[in-house]
Amino acid sequence: MTETTSSSAGRVRTRFAPSPTGFIHLGNVRSALYPWAFARATGGDFILRIEDTDVQRSSQAAVDVILDGLQWLGMVPDEGPFYQMQRMDRYRAALADLQAAGHVYPCYMGVEELDALRARQLADKEKPRYDGTWRPEDGKSLPPVPAGVQPVLRFRNPQGGVVAWDDKVKGRVEIRNDELDDLVIARPDGTPTYNFCVVVDDIDMRITHVIRGDDHVNNTPRQINIFRALGKEPPVYAHLPTVLDEHGEKMSKRNGAKPVTHYRDEGYLPDALLNYLARLGWSHGDDEIFSREQLLCWFDLDHLGRSAAQFDEAKLRWVNAQHLKAMADDALAALLAPQLQQQGVSAQALTDGRLPRIC
Ligand code: GLU
Repeated sequence: MTETTSSSAGRVRTRFAPSPTGFIHLGNVRSALYPWAFARATGGDFILRIEDTDVQRSSQAAVDVILDGLQWLGMVPDEGPFYQMQRMDRYRAALADLQAAGHVYPCYMGVEELDALRARQLADKEKPRYDGTWRPEDGKSLPPVPAGVQPVLRFRNPQGGVVAWDDKVKGRVEIRNDELDDLVIARPDGTPTYNFCVVVDDIDMRITHVIRGDDHVNNTPRQINIFRALGKEPPVYAHLPTVLDEHGEKMSKRNGAKPVTHYRDEGYLPDALLNYLARLGWSHGDDEIFSREQLLCWFDLDHLGRSAAQFDEAKLRWVNAQHLKAMADDALAALLAPQLQQQGVSAQALTDGRLPRIC
């Protein structure tokens, strides 16, 4: 059986769901820009969700860069920020529903046993996967429950058939259910895992279009199966190709990508940055320079690029220069004044009317 995600009717609702485990850079901002622009272009809603369940690596400083960066760029959410750590009770309740409906089972396989299974599968040149030892089936007897072991909960992935969706970037994607093993959706202490929380959030926040980086494409068939087990149809998906840095590596903090707020401090114009990032994976004919208003009028999911885009700082500077040239003198003077004041120029010299003439 092949199942396809339905396209959504009604009001568009998109989200940006960053994990605050590092300072968001321009690659991340592009993953915010597209859902924001799509919501604005269609008269829909844009939601901000902070995925802070990796408590060890999440930080308030990283959250601040997300909030300040979006504020500076004028990409203000209609709802949120919602914090996943504040929604744990809701995930637990959804987990209980799933369990009551028979989609979840306890698994007592310990780490050592899992490691041994993995080593055997690799030696046999098989893809490592959970083998279903604890999956209840009619007529199957399960191993004796070991004493003193807290089980994980696994999702009973459907067997047979295909999970498929029409990705707005990748086109039709089909994954055989038999390639997906039964995912751990709650840890031994009962805390739900990432893929489950994302689905519960996307349901509760009534997300119609998930627009995110293609590093999540492997999660999508699993998430679609969880949606259906919870009795919901999944949203439309668009998985954006990677943004590469100037060395051709995936843009990341580890590779020296700068936090978005750095560009604010360097004097880039928000509209220039939006213009530049919009073109990094989307096109409107041959238009290179456009205003925020034009972007929000034109943006769609039908002209997304399929290949990885490479960041080019010289091009960003050029785009910024075009926006600076197009700005009215007064507006430019208003932007420049605080910077000059910081450099020690007196307030009087900045307000006596000369600055706009110089600009
Ligand atoms: N929190 C994920 C990330 O920062 C995004 C998850 C999603 O968009 O579904 O990569």
